[in-house]
Amino acid sequence: MLKNVIAPIQAWLMSRGQCVGCGTPLSKASHVKRVGGTEKVTCKCGRIFIFDPKPKTYRRALFSEV
Ligand SMILES: [Zn+2]
Repeated sequence: MLKNVIAPIQAWLMSRGQCVGCGTPLSKASHVKRVGGTEKVTCKCGRIFIFDPKPKTYRRALFSEV
C-alpha cells in the first residue's frame, strides 16, 4: 500500500532530475560516461542513476548496470 504512494513521488522527482532518496538535483552529482552514450550518476546518498543525454532524462540504474 505504501508503495502506491511513494512510486508517483519518485517518478515526479525523477522527471525533475532529482534524487528519489534525498531530493538533491542530479545535475550536481558526479556523472561518469558509459559505453553507449549514457552517463552513470552517483548521488551523494549512494543511489545510482542512469542519465540519457538525448532526452535529458534520469532513471534508476538497473542492478546489472551498477
Ligand atoms: Zn540522493
